Amino acid sequence: MKTDIEISQATELAPITQIAEKLNLTAEDLELYGKYKAKIDFSALDRIHQQPEGKLILVTSINPTPAGEGKSTVTIGLGDALNKIGKNTVIALREPSLGPVMGIKGGATGGGYAQVLPMEDINLHFTGDMHAITTANNALSALLDNHLHQGNELGIDPRRVIWKRVVDLNDRELRHITVGLGGPINGVPREDGFDITVASEIMAVLCLSTDIQDLKKRLSNIVVAYTYDREPITVGDLKVEGALALILKDAIKPNLVQTIYQTPAFVHGGPFANIAHGCNSILATNTALHCGDYTVTEAGFGADLGGEKFLDIKVPSLGKTPDLVVIVATIRALKMHGGVAKSDLSAENLEALKTGFSNLAKHIANMKKYGLPVVVAINEFISDTDKEITLLKELCEAEDVKVELASVWEKGPEGGVDLANTVVQTIEESEAKFTSIFSREHDDIEEKVETIVKEIYGGSEVNYSKKAKQQLATFKKYGWDRLPVCMAKTQYSLSDDPAKLGAPSDFTVTIREFVPKIGAGFIVALTGDVMTMPGLPKKPAALNMDVDAEGNAIGLF
Ligand code: ADP
Repeated sequence: MKTDIEISQATELAPITQIAEKLNLTAEDLELYGKYKAKIDFSALDRIHQQPEGKLILVTSINPTPAGEGKSTVTIGLGDALNKIGKNTVIALREPSLGPVMGIKGGATGGGYAQVLPMEDINLHFTGDMHAITTANNALSALLDNHLHQGNELGIDPRRVIWKRVVDLNDRELRHITVGLGGPINGVPREDGFDITVASEIMAVLCLSTDIQDLKKRLSNIVVAYTYDREPITVGDLKVEGALALILKDAIKPNLVQTIYQTPAFVHGGPFANIAHGCNSILATNTALHCGDYTVTEAGFGADLGGEKFLDIKVPSLGKTPDLVVIVATIRALKMHGGVAKSDLSAENLEALKTGFSNLAKHIANMKKYGLPVVVAINEFISDTDKEITLLKELCEAEDVKVELASVWEKGPEGGVDLANTVVQTIEESEAKFTSIFSREHDDIEEKVETIVKEIYGGSEVNYSKKAKQQLATFKKYGWDRLPVCMAKTQYSLSDDPAKLGAPSDFTVTIREFVPKIGAGFIVALTGDVMTMPGLPKKPAALNMDVDAEGNAIGLF
């Protein structure tokens, strides 16, 4: 099998104008970024949003393991397969961050014969959205520090500035820094730090905004610091929301690209799935929904994180609930949940598969709690044995859930036809009756956290640190106590302990601290340590990368 980039480079792409035609978009509606990438103009967005809405398919997964699940791969492959069976389908995905691309994870453009292209562009600078977000974030830092330097009219306590600078790289050296050294002409000294761009609240804001007005309102609500009297200071207080929105005026427009099989794909926005909600932009999903009869979209990490946040944070802004949820699982990952070491995953192990199935079963039950029809997609790996596939299908059927093998990585759309047919049939036969797991308006932060921990994670209790308790009291004073909660938790376990695989029960989740993200419109609840500036591994992926004399990328996976 060829590598992802070899497959990508051997593919002849259609001009993006041709892909746009499939969505009834003309060259006038597009802002071209070369031959194969385009942004959609606002006038076209307004027109598209008048068109009828198609069906929404949310792709999520079991808790990730180092064995890999292939959520993006299945999302893309399912989109291609739906088109293959004659359903007009559009894909909506997140855009990758350069930091992890240079580090270890690989891109977010799928794999094998299920990829969005041109993958090297999407994984590198794409249409510049990440750079615009970085610049808007750092412009805010510069304007805030300038306010401190120029007399600090708002009375901001420099020790209580919570707004950090960002860069779209994994750079641990920048986690904790001191700025403003060198005497009075060089600013006000204070402790600062860098996060990775995708952890910036501006990324979450951009992804949740429904238009430029909403973007401005959300930017204006971002809390950047507190005064000496502990009152919150917002972007609106600094009067710079207009400038920040201006920097983001193009980044907010959805990017259109294509898959290997020329399915239209919107790849736009990519917030972290721990410190933020982990879904692509509302504008991109909404545009896809009004362009196609079916939209396939993906949420980050497992169904306990990205899936839960899609349903509890994204859905209210999107104004559309999924018609069906696809849960991606691999036999390798389920065996890992059943206790098998990474080095032994290729050997058949029915017992471990049975034990590890508990993780998938919990996610199936959770998605059903939202009243949504569920289909399981087994992302087929070469090492899967017939006995293992048969057993996994039986286990799913015992949970009363439909299951299909997806071989899209190896075979492209052909390998996803069964999954596509089952998805369509299930949507036609079982109506989604979405119910929220809590009352969004009435439940307070503690009630929401408790519901998520007990209903979704399977835990029995929530503990709050002294600091978290104090924060809850302050939030009441500021009127933030009924905002949605965005849980920041390890992706590897349903609990807050990455070592607890499968479906743990009777555990306590500890909330260490809350982080208000008032622009995004939620309160982040931190369990354990959450990394907002990743580091690079000993042998970064960058060591394999190169470019030839013609400018072709080498070694991008
Ligand atoms: P996720 O979205 O869950 O992070 P991706 O779809 O990005 O996962 O896939 C992660 C990596 O695993 C990619 O490099 C992809 O090529 C590889 N991969 C996905 N599915 C398969 C498969 N069925 N067989 C082999 N490799 C796969």
